[in-house]
Amino acid sequence: LSYEVRVRPVVVDGFSFVTVIFEDRTQVLEAGQMRRDFVANVSHELRTPLTAVLGFIETLMGPAADDTAARKRFLSIMEREAKRMNRIVGDLLSLSRVESERRVRPTDRVDIPAVVRTVASSLQSLAEIRDVKIILEGGENADTVPGDRDQITQVFTNLVENAIKYGGAGKEVRICITSHTVEPTMRGPAIRVDVSDQGDGIPHQHIPRLTERFYRVDSHRSREMGGTGLGLAIVKHILNRHRGRLRVESYPGQGSLFSVILPYE
Ligand code: ADP
Repeated sequence: LSYEVRVRPVVVDGFSFVTVIFEDRTQVLEAGQMRRDFVANVSHELRTPLTAVLGFIETLMGPAADDTAARKRFLSIMEREAKRMNRIVGDLLSLSRVESERRVRPTDRVDIPAVVRTVASSLQSLAEIRDVKIILEGGENADTVPGDRDQITQVFTNLVENAIKYGGAGKEVRICITSHTVEPTMRGPAIRVDVSDQGDGIPHQHIPRLTERFYRVDSHRSREMGGTGLGLAIVKHILNRHRGRLRVESYPGQGSLFSVILPYE
């Protein structure tokens, strides 16, 4: 805890007093610290691929200038690292856009089963590349909630993409839609979409921190999969804005279950 203390002499009707004001500065200082941590994280995340690109440029301009095979290999690594930077910047922009709209109440109605079907079909080719089968259950009828269509599409894209990436080859990703459910953490009826995979799961001590920016359970694996560490932070902010919830359950060795719960009203 941190307090700022201000002492002021006051004279009222000839009597002298001293007022002492204690101001709780804890939150202000914490916000400042969070901002500094965030800037440090962003710089670190961008510097790693940038350093790699600069190193390869130097090599290509010097010792490997005439080596055609090396040139091809280095250029493809540089392309991969540049794409990573591009994804990080794209995700940072999405995050800041969502954060700046935090208090706005979405007014359009979004058909959740339709969005889920669109997401599943647009990720079909990624699933095929990774030898993952996507299975869709429920959601036969249109079912709408108030919301922002693009943002809700982003929520399901991030979750299904993670399930494909971390689920593992030869496994299934199951998306199950349940309409009109009563959830313990919600005031009224809601729609729930469960995205489950059959991957290694997530050790329970990591679960509360998954939606922090740049938090990764296994940094090496995340990078290998092309992750930015921002996907779930974006999901959390979008769901907050929709008064929705994200529930995560994991069964180490068996898989993970990410449930999105969105209220009808
Ligand atoms: P990333 O871009 O690294 O995937 P996310 O914010 O989407 O970032 O996820 C944060 C971390 O949570 C990931 O790095 C990964 O360690 C873990 N994670 C997310 N989804 C899953 C999943 N379905 N199975 C196992 N781990 C997951």
